[in-house]
Amino acid sequence: MRALPIIAIDGPAAAGKGTLARRLARELGFDYLDTGLIYRAVGMKLARAGQDPSAVEPAEHTARTLAPTDLDAPDLRIDEAAQAASKVAVIPGVRAALLDFQRRFASHPPGGAGAVLDGRDIGTVVCPDASVKLFVTASLEKRAERRLKELQEKGLEAIHGTVLADMRERDDRDKNRSVAPLIPAEDAVVLDTSDLDADQAYAVALDLVRSKQ
Ligand code: C5P
Repeated sequence: MRALPIIAIDGPAAAGKGTLARRLARELGFDYLDTGLIYRAVGMKLARAGQDPSAVEPAEHTARTLAPTDLDAPDLRIDEAAQAASKVAVIPGVRAALLDFQRRFASHPPGGAGAVLDGRDIGTVVCPDASVKLFVTASLEKRAERRLKELQEKGLEAIHGTVLADMRERDDRDKNRSVAPLIPAEDAVVLDTSDLDADQAYAVALDLVRSKQ
């Protein structure tokens, strides 16, 4: 049986990969998995219980017992969730526990046509055989600007310096961890969206996908 097509999209926070991944999935009729949400769910389960997301044992237990409904929690988009996610994400046992869930989704997407996954290690670790690999990035300054705008549009108070510092801290943790660090796969196409709007980035990505079909 021929393997279903998988599109792997990796990159740092606020580079535009989520928007791109969702749009590609819709266009191609593929299922979409935001893998960051899984790490956020683990981190927030611990934070809500008053536990330190960096504590290995509780984090591994939470990852092993995570239920699909945990991904529906309403607080997974807040900044605390992002920071907690990046702390549990450095723990090798957490990553190992979450790998199966992601691979099962990629090989058996609910709609049966194909899958788009976005995250930090999809092209390198989760789906090294993906048919298309994109590494979406942008300068730290541009990404912080975008995140600030997003927060302000939601009516949330945000300070540019704080958003930038939080993002830099998360980038550093993601790039420097010993397991599955944030790095482009050797065969990934790097798409720098610093000077592209969402439509332009989408056009480049769709061209790439079509060229591989
Ligand atoms: O993509 P998002 O910003 O929601 O991810 C939150 C955090 O989860 C990241 O900063 C990263 O530490 C972790 N993550 C990861 N591997 C993935 C997806 C997310 O380590 N595949």
